[in-house]
Amino acid sequence: MFEVQQVRADFPILSQEVFGHPLVYLDNAATMQMPEPVLQTVVNHYHADNANVHRGIHALSERSTRALETARERVRAFVNAKSADEIVFTSGTTGSLNMLADMWFGSGCADGAVVTTMMEHHANFVPWQQACLKHGCDFLGAPLDEKGDLDMGELENLLSCHDVSLLAVTHVSNVLGTVNPIGEIVAMAHAHGVKVAVDAAQSIRHEVVDVQALDCDFLAFSGHKMGGPTGIGVLYGKMAELERLRPVRFGGEMVGDVRVAGTTFERAPLRFEAGTPNYIGAIGLAAAMDYLDNLDRAEVGKYEHELLAYAEERLAGIDGLSFLGNPEKRAGCLSFTVEGAHPFDVATLADKLGVALRSGNQCAQPLLYEAYDAHNITRLSPAFYNTYDEIDVAVNVLHRVIARIRSVS
Ligand code: PLP
Repeated sequence: MFEVQQVRADFPILSQEVFGHPLVYLDNAATMQMPEPVLQTVVNHYHADNANVHRGIHALSERSTRALETARERVRAFVNAKSADEIVFTSGTTGSLNMLADMWFGSGCADGAVVTTMMEHHANFVPWQQACLKHGCDFLGAPLDEKGDLDMGELENLLSCHDVSLLAVTHVSNVLGTVNPIGEIVAMAHAHGVKVAVDAAQSIRHEVVDVQALDCDFLAFSGHKMGGPTGIGVLYGKMAELERLRPVRFGGEMVGDVRVAGTTFERAPLRFEAGTPNYIGAIGLAAAMDYLDNLDRAEVGKYEHELLAYAEERLAGIDGLSFLGNPEKRAGCLSFTVEGAHPFDVATLADKLGVALRSGNQCAQPLLYEAYDAHNITRLSPAFYNTYDEIDVAVNVLHRVIARIRSVS
């Protein structure tokens, strides 16, 4: 049985008032709060062991280096990669995907188009679009079906009818909450000789992400969406793929020999981590993974799923509210529009009553502008530390603010 109150005790930030109201934090798809053990790990490292990694031979540097490499092994285990050398530390999902897009085209890997989908976050859309523009390759977006799920038939058409080198696809949509059948998509792409980069920013906390089971070639995610620090993320790549990639960021620690005549580079993953890495972030990320694994993830998943279903049922009772998407499987968030109430007004007034929601285009303009005709939406995204009572508070607040907005417009 999942004990939400016990878990909440690990997140003191939640026990505060905002504008005189108890905080109801429902913006977890943007950033999840950090539990106390993660904060303590970060503070302890600064207190006791902090020094630059890989360079020094003194005790603190060795301790820091060991902690960083232990963190790399922790990440390997969390996503079930074959080797810790397949784990590259980056600044986050955006950092991972930008670097991958640059490397993909800078290494002679790309001899064809890149396909993405219309439900991507800009982080898995714009880097590929810009790299394709620069290198004169086609850039294609797979459409959604009438329910708002990925149209698998159309996706297969794109993969088979064009000379495609890579598919960039999200595991879970940050707007619709749709959980894409990633294993099936990877198998389909591979059958057409296409490599696959998965954006796992939203899935990494909700789903058990097993890169070997998914068989994806690359996978990217961020620490701050799973209870880790900001400024740290991961690019996973199969070793055979990483070995083909030329680094695009250069500097200390990623090199072998440096001469005027030329430079040789370290092996993966170090050759992709130029400069001082965010080792404290990596150590915090590993602590977040420990934290999640110490909870029963199956129980957590079940609780989150039921909480989201409850929120959907309660929100559906609001007059004029429509959800975006109606996926077979949803995780993490609910996005909606409300007749006669602009999302900015809804989220601004809800905030004044203590409820933190997200409004705007959610960095998914292709989805909102082209697949739906909704330029802005409101998003509610619970985490496992939220309660049914908080959902009730949020729904009551929404009733109030929507009535207020309608009364003055
Ligand atoms: N991809 C998805 C699906 C996201 O939801 C986000 C952030 O919301 C990102 C990528 C970008 O993550 P970050 O800002 O941590 O780089």
